[in-house]
Amino acid sequence: LFNFCAGPAALPEAVLQQAREELLDWQGKGLSVMEMSHRSDEFVSIAERAEQDLRDLLNIPDNYRVLFLQGGASQQFAQIPLNLLPEGGRADYIDTGIWSAKAIEEASRFGNVHVAASAKGYDYFAIPGQNDWRLSADAAYVHYTPNETIGGLEFGWVPEVSAPLVADMSSTILSRPVDISKFGLVYAGAQKNIGPSGLVVVIVREDLLGRARASCPTMLDYSVAAQNASMYNTPPTFAWYLSGLIFQWLKGQGGLEAMKRINEAKQRKLYGTIDASDFYSNPINPADRSWMNIPFRLADERLDKPFLAGAEQRGLLNLKGHRSVGGMRASIYNAVPEAAVDALVAYMAEFEKQHG
Ligand code: PLP
Repeated sequence: LFNFCAGPAALPEAVLQQAREELLDWQGKGLSVMEMSHRSDEFVSIAERAEQDLRDLLNIPDNYRVLFLQGGASQQFAQIPLNLLPEGGRADYIDTGIWSAKAIEEASRFGNVHVAASAKGYDYFAIPGQNDWRLSADAAYVHYTPNETIGGLEFGWVPEVSAPLVADMSSTILSRPVDISKFGLVYAGAQKNIGPSGLVVVIVREDLLGRARASCPTMLDYSVAAQNASMYNTPPTFAWYLSGLIFQWLKGQGGLEAMKRINEAKQRKLYGTIDASDFYSNPINPADRSWMNIPFRLADERLDKPFLAGAEQRGLLNLKGHRSVGGMRASIYNAVPEAAVDALVAYMAEFEKQHG
């Protein structure tokens, strides 16, 4: 079976096997990671190893803190302004689709949000070039969404801005190398390329800590999380442990340079199949196409149901597009092997032959 779900997404089989082996008895300690105190030496070593492996994978500079938090990426939509946007201050946001719109809506509750650029003029099928952005001189930060999971629109470049750059990397983190030093803050819900849901990873430059509003709840203050090694309260220990196993798996695959090569090849194959036929289509400007989430349509939407039913029969699962977009969507995160894409494109060719 191959799982193309956008999230919670497929996890590497080797990691699930290892977790199964360690489920009842972690490394001879006689108990599960789920049953350990988060303050025990055993769990602290699991947590520290996970952080170090993530630092190694992303080459995170020493002046950044890595936080393992709860509330998902959606909570970050509020947590970011509570920490980085002073009362009465202004923040710039780039609107490229449904997730950036949610971030904009939530931040607007806390201050002056300026939409410095929007993909609306391109029907959200292309990213506005930076020359067309209207950035504020006094922005506390600039927020953008490098990969729009639903629309399938991805930045192949990192914006150059003078204010701290804040990025929702939920559906693109760890898919290829990225220069963290260009960012003030990066966040990612875990349930796509990191691990199980229930965890959100925040990577924040140290000079941005200690700026939270007086009214910011303690649990949402980044500096409290940083001072307490993300253990101010009980963290999602099992999700943290499993994410650590995935970081080790990624290192075993050859790290992010290797993932980039694999992911590049996967997306090229799938877009190639879509573009080679009139039966399938993807509307996104080729330079702005997502490597991780590939929406596509059939020429006749009455064929959507038979397409999905046939896919499921062949073990190609969760290809239905997001309810707001319709059509199909194949999410091909790190844990989805090239063989899954091979099986999908073979099925697409066969289906087109029958119905095209
Ligand atoms: N941002 C992006 C880009 C996403 O894809 C998602 C979820 O799919 C979210 C935010 C919301 O994540 P969560 O469910 O962890 O709040």
